[in-house]
Amino acid sequence: MTKKIEFIDLKTQYAQLKTAIDRRIQTVLDHGQYIMGPEVPELERRLEAYVGAAHCVTVASGTEALLIALMAIGVKPGDEVITTPFTFVATAEVIALLGAVPVFVDVETDTCNIDVGLIEAAITKRTRAIIPVSLYGQAADMDEINAIAASHGISVIEDAAQSFGSTYREKRSCNLSSIACTSFFPSKPLGCYGDGGAIFTDDAELAKAMREIRVHGQERRYYHTRIGVGGRMDTLQCAIVLAKLDNLNWEIEQRIRIGAGYLAKLRGNNAIQPLTVRSDRTCVWGQFTLQSASRDDLLEKLKQAEIPSAIHYPVPLHLQPAYKDLSRAAGPLSRSEAVSKRVFSLPMHPYLDESEQDRIVAALVD
Ligand SMILES: *Cc1c(COP(=O)(O)O)cnc(C)c1O
Repeated sequence: MTKKIEFIDLKTQYAQLKTAIDRRIQTVLDHGQYIMGPEVPELERRLEAYVGAAHCVTVASGTEALLIALMAIGVKPGDEVITTPFTFVATAEVIALLGAVPVFVDVETDTCNIDVGLIEAAITKRTRAIIPVSLYGQAADMDEINAIAASHGISVIEDAAQSFGSTYREKRSCNLSSIACTSFFPSKPLGCYGDGGAIFTDDAELAKAMREIRVHGQERRYYHTRIGVGGRMDTLQCAIVLAKLDNLNWEIEQRIRIGAGYLAKLRGNNAIQPLTVRSDRTCVWGQFTLQSASRDDLLEKLKQAEIPSAIHYPVPLHLQPAYKDLSRAAGPLSRSEAVSKRVFSLPMHPYLDESEQDRIVAALVD
């Protein structure tokens, strides 16, 4: 019997890291400080050092990270926030939750990231922030985006939920703009065993605001200076990320190596277009996503071979029923619509071995 191929293999990862993870969990069970225990600041200091940002605030999820970031910069009803419609719904959801308007700018076909050349024209008097998404694990054109934002006095919030560990011009994702948000959802490049997330910034005042918003807007216990949320990441989840952090550099190397392996094995296949990885950045393949005009046929072949696949994402957000009337298109979104019909993702995790990869590629090209 051949081994079943997992889309993301968390069991093998746990088997590898069991001693460290079990020890970390046991420590929390022994001290019993399940909310804001010592692992919370320990993880925040470790993540600051890893990413290179001055402040890390752990939060309940990647979605909560985006929400708290927008609350901290004071996004209000009627404000506009620029992002792409070709992302996970949370990116736009938090904008709409605050009564602000997601303004959608189209993506580049070859990276599926926001097209920086279209951003300037989308800015109005009401624009408060730009949220570029580092989709599939590769940052967008952050320096150019930061320059546009600076000239208009608006914030840039990197949605780095899929790109933790990737680099852009010698800096790490999550340290590329005024604020960055990531997710520790189990399937992300750095995952916990439940929900978790983090916000990064170099701005001490913003970090203070985020820490307060995370706990019901309180400056000290039961003294509430602003409206907040119940948005803490719990101690056990922080302990699990701490245990995984020691292995992260190796896992990131494997992701990059396995991604390159897929690209090499698929080279010359005219029916499949891989993502372009720009030369000044790395992609950690939060999803290993390809494009094809014959997606349905390819997904059927994978299914026949019992290889799991997924579509990230089948419907761009401006076409979703909930967002049609709540958002504004800054221009044509035809590239987002086109790629949503072409993208599909293959199994990707640091423990995917060469023979499994060969089986996946064989199923695709046969
Ligand atoms: C996963 C994800 C989020 C949300 O993270 P959660 O931890 O699931 O709330 C936000 N944006 C993008 C691009 C994501 O992939």
